[in-house]
Amino acid sequence: MNNYFDYHLHLEQGPYTMEWLEEFLKVAHSRGVREVGFTEHAYRFREAASILENNWARQHATQSAEDYVRLLLQAKTIYPEVRLGLEVDYVPGKEEITRRFLAAYPFDFVLGSVHFLGDWGFDNPEFLAEWDHRDVDEVYRHYFWTLRQAATSRLFDVLAHPDVIKVFGHRATRDLTAVYRETVETIARSDLAIEVSSAGLRKPVGELYPAETFLQMAFGAGIPITTASDAHRPEDAGRDLEQVVVLARRAGYTAVSSFQLRQRISVSLDC
Ligand SMILES: [Zn+2]
Ligand SMILES: [Zn+2]
Repeated sequence: MNNYFDYHLHLEQGPYTMEWLEEFLKVAHSRGVREVGFTEHAYRFREAASILENNWARQHATQSAEDYVRLLLQAKTIYPEVRLGLEVDYVPGKEEITRRFLAAYPFDFVLGSVHFLGDWGFDNPEFLAEWDHRDVDEVYRHYFWTLRQAATSRLFDVLAHPDVIKVFGHRATRDLTAVYRETVETIARSDLAIEVSSAGLRKPVGELYPAETFLQMAFGAGIPITTASDAHRPEDAGRDLEQVVVLARRAGYTAVSSFQLRQRISVSLDC
């Protein structure tokens, strides 16, 4: 069956060339993926360097968004299943700078992500030790507060890996039902999709994002979904999407979202 959608892949470990991009497409096709949305991290681009201003990000802003966009636009003319996307860190207070950067390019869709709480990149193994100095319940509260701000900013089409805060297996001691409920209601009001991702299966937590309870609530609130591998290497393109779809169906979903020039289209999981 040729019916998977992978709306989250990174080219960053190779050059911005058609040959490298085709490595991802080859694997995605072999796994039955029919649409492939590339989503490089915005922090890699000099043009976006003022969005995430911390020491770590500064060292990574070495590429040109122009080169990336040019490659993807060329790829789209050869491969109609390719989409030009981007993964952008949501930073409170940087909404207008982010909006201006996004408006400069013809993106098909934009993922909004929370990877940083202040200057702490909580999902980055480089900063893993910082967890030992933190109150995990407070970290969860801060994370979901920031995710809700990302939703209401209206900057994004999709919230990526909505509970990535669990990436290393740290668990809140308090029940998360009320936090999930408030977050889901905010996302529903903001009319954007959330991502169901297989990336967590390859991380210490060993689970899909988001938790099943969260996804059930999202379905109940009418929030659309995308499906994604978050591949950073060709061999992960389209990986474990069958598990993603099983979770989505179990939560009640019968459709996924496809995007073109930031217009969301619902596509049945059965066609
Ligand atoms: Zn991410
Ligand atoms: Zn990513």
